[in-house]
Amino acid sequence: MGRMEERLKKAIAKTAQDAKKKVQELSINPKSSKYVAPHRHCVICYIPIAIESEPPICTDSSCSEKHASKERSRKRLNIMLYLFPAIAIMLFLLPLFT
Ligand SMILES: [Zn+2]
Repeated sequence: MGRMEERLKKAIAKTAQDAKKKVQELSINPKSSKYVAPHRHCVICYIPIAIESEPPICTDSSCSEKHASKERSRKRLNIMLYLFPAIAIMLFLLPLFT
């Protein structure tokens, strides 16, 4: 059984290495037909956009609106994540001081 395991391990390592090499070839060689230039995707509609776009959305106005509302709800969630434990701790500590 030990030999079998070793062979399997070697095969897995080889496959991983091959895949790594392939990825490197594809991402480094701009002449390759499979080459994809570094880019980002609009977080709303996922069309490719320039990599330096910040926030990562396309020029579509509906996308920027959706992104803004997403951002707002994200911030609200963040606040709540801090606020609720704070309130819980306060409720827990308050009786100790009174
Ligand atoms: Zn978009």
